Amino acid sequence: MEAYCVKCKTKREMKNAKNVTTKNGRLMAKGTCPVCGTTINKFLASSKTPAKK
Ligand SMILES: [Zn+2]
Repeated sequence: MEAYCVKCKTKREMKNAKNVTTKNGRLMAKGTCPVCGTTINKFLASSKTPAKK
């Protein structure tokens, strides 16, 4: 899964990606950038069903 890395200022393939649900009930993927190691997040489209990959 790709997500935008603010440090690299480009999209990176997310490392150790996992799905988390925020307090608002929104589903997002959380992982680390393989290049700089910064934590990167990506909001996923569906918020109702926390689908796991
Ligand atoms: Zn990065």
